[in-house]
Amino acid sequence: MIKPVVIKVQNLSKVYKPRGSTIETIALENINLDIEEGDFVALAGPSGSGKTTLLNMMGTLDKPTSGDVLIENIPLSTLGPSGSADLRLRKIGFVFQAYNLISTLSALENAEYVALLQGVPAKRRRHEAFHILKDLGLEQHVDKRPSQLSAGQQQRVAVARAILAQPKIILADEPTANLDSKTGAELIDLMRAMGQNLNVTFVCATHDKMVMDKSRSIVTIHDGKIVSQTRIS
Ligand code: ADP
Ligand code: MG
Repeated sequence: MIKPVVIKVQNLSKVYKPRGSTIETIALENINLDIEEGDFVALAGPSGSGKTTLLNMMGTLDKPTSGDVLIENIPLSTLGPSGSADLRLRKIGFVFQAYNLISTLSALENAEYVALLQGVPAKRRRHEAFHILKDLGLEQHVDKRPSQLSAGQQQRVAVARAILAQPKIILADEPTANLDSKTGAELIDLMRAMGQNLNVTFVCATHDKMVMDKSRSIVTIHDGKIVSQTRIS
């Protein structure tokens, strides 16, 4: 069965040139990539290869220098700031280090947060958030603040928050970076299982071999270029 392409990266390049600086960094150079619905993709490559930059472009968090990303056939270049914000809210979940949990909210409130922005009614939101946290093994921790949770528990709350919003795509930047190997493996298994059940497409930037081993596709980038692409199953 041919699956629809949910993320299409077309001739995408990104050059960083800090304001007032003459130094240019070519972070991505002519990237072309199709990601199918329901895939679980590891975006692999060493530090500085351009993984975060590519995720930021896919997530409309930054703009390419040239080329485009299409999300469900919508070219992101055609969206203004409010269109981008709306697409992010409706279709894209983030599990980013920089998008951490809100320290003053409980695990449950954090998990509910994006659903709240989406206007999901309070009762339903709370009910669903509780169930996802329970599935993620956090039943005993729903009332705790992030500072009272381990790194692995916090990362699971971030996954719960992303999944609860029912996005089409979840972009994760080094989701296992702060976790021990067992917790990291459990988190990836949970993400895969939830992705399969809900038909979510995952893209995980990572240099963790375990994540690559558990992924269905591996896209490797080096110095801003795709050097290999493998499909495991
Ligand atoms: P990775 O996530 O694979 O470690 P990045 O996408 O963060 O790689 O970075 C790719 C390249 O772009 C690196 O050379 C990095 O130094 C550079 N870079 C990333 N963000 C910026 C920025 N905001 N300004 C200037 N250079 C940047
Ligand atoms: Mg990075």
